[in-house]
Amino acid sequence: MTALWTSAAIAQATGGKASAVFDASGVAFDSREIGPGDLFVALKGEHSDGHLHVEQAFASGASGAIVSQPVDGPHILVSDTAAALDALAKASRERTAARIIGVTGSVGKTGTKEALYAALDRCSFGHAHRSVKSYNNHVGVPLSLSRMPEDTKFGIFEMGMNHAHELSALTRLVRPHAAIITAIAPAHIGNFPTGEQGIVDAKGEIFEGLVPEGTAIIPFDSPHYQRLRKKAERHAAHVISFGFEDGADVRAVDVVPAPRGGSLVTARLGDQSLCFTIAEAGRHWVSNSLAILAAVRAVGGDLASAGLSLAEMSGIDGRGRRHVITLKSGGKAVVIDESYNANPASMKATLQHFTVEPCSGQKIAILGAMGELGEQSAQFHAALADDILHCGMDAVILVGEYMAHTAAKLEHGLDQGVKMSHAESASEALSEVAKLIGDGDVILIKGSNYLGLSSAVSALVNGE
Ligand code: ATP
Ligand code: MG
Repeated sequence: MTALWTSAAIAQATGGKASAVFDASGVAFDSREIGPGDLFVALKGEHSDGHLHVEQAFASGASGAIVSQPVDGPHILVSDTAAALDALAKASRERTAARIIGVTGSVGKTGTKEALYAALDRCSFGHAHRSVKSYNNHVGVPLSLSRMPEDTKFGIFEMGMNHAHELSALTRLVRPHAAIITAIAPAHIGNFPTGEQGIVDAKGEIFEGLVPEGTAIIPFDSPHYQRLRKKAERHAAHVISFGFEDGADVRAVDVVPAPRGGSLVTARLGDQSLCFTIAEAGRHWVSNSLAILAAVRAVGGDLASAGLSLAEMSGIDGRGRRHVITLKSGGKAVVIDESYNANPASMKATLQHFTVEPCSGQKIAILGAMGELGEQSAQFHAALADDILHCGMDAVILVGEYMAHTAAKLEHGLDQGVKMSHAESASEALSEVAKLIGDGDVILIKGSNYLGLSSAVSALVNGE
């Protein structure tokens, strides 16, 4: 197998000095993630210094390291390891003929990235590459780029931001042929003094790095569509809109529930009509799938393969994966794991879908607080009460301090018989749900990652 990087190529890309000749088959900056043959990049963070873990990286099989101070073992000596990682990413991008797609948005980046990867990997016979997990920031993006094999046909990169100007830098590194904005919603709004408009402008930065013939893919039904379109037109040769409303370039004209879950969608792409099934449930996933099809077409992928892979999606941990669990009583229940992420848009989308979720027992939701909403946090948490009231659940367990705002509003509106309780932590929520759960129940677990609700999911799934 050809090496991902030779020491000579790393030295050339980074301007560093190689202490020895070595080949690397992968790249990592977390020494716990190092596998045999990988290149370890010793990054210096606010609270950590990768140089302290070089020894561990070599013990785990690293073939070499990028360092800013000499170490025992094969290495490339550079003055700044973070700049060297960026340089390696740039070289990686330059040496490939791959068609590149960047994905951003307030919600749905990882899910869309994964689904696009599956679609493009299928039609390139295993020659697609993607960022892992949610590695979408100033170190995650260059890491993902530097891991891209030279013979990649399609590269899909998630790009995220908490502040203005972050995407600007990331997209210039990625230089996408197509860039998607999945949706705009008030995530991280606490960091944007100009509110949602600030978020729109910051997301629109993704178009600044498009290659000259590039395509911008934007949500048509968004109230910010015009503003996004203006920004897109400044940088993109082509702009494709997607959505449900009349006028979208890629439009879902008919959506019905699919017999085995998910949705059966008839979409129109210009003068082409496409019928496909999307296994992931919910209208938000139909929307993501439209953006995916637009991107597949923009980079010359195969739409039929994309349709097949959308039908085979099986949910991602923390973002909609479903688990059928066996209860101590012998009964069965379904746990929907949305424990990784929560903001007003994804809460709304998930609760709307919960309304139509088939269920022979009770519908129970463990809902955790939504982080990073700044001054408007109380308002957003109170507004959640309306979504909860309309989704027909039998019991709701609210977790975290901010949920007191939701509880206060809910107390007046809940139907008699709907049980509501408040938990301080994931473990308390677990004890609460244990008192309620029975055969045929569906339990939705959703909240911001910091609450650790994934531990409640694991406990339920593992029967603890
Ligand atoms: P992060 O910023 O944490 O990386 P992300 O943008 O990658 O998040 P995902 O992890 O893909 O987002 O999805 C988070 C949640 O958002 C999902 O569990 C789902 O409930 C919801 N979601 C996905 N797509 C959409 C969409 N288009 N509109 C609204 N909600 C969505
Ligand atoms: Mg993500």
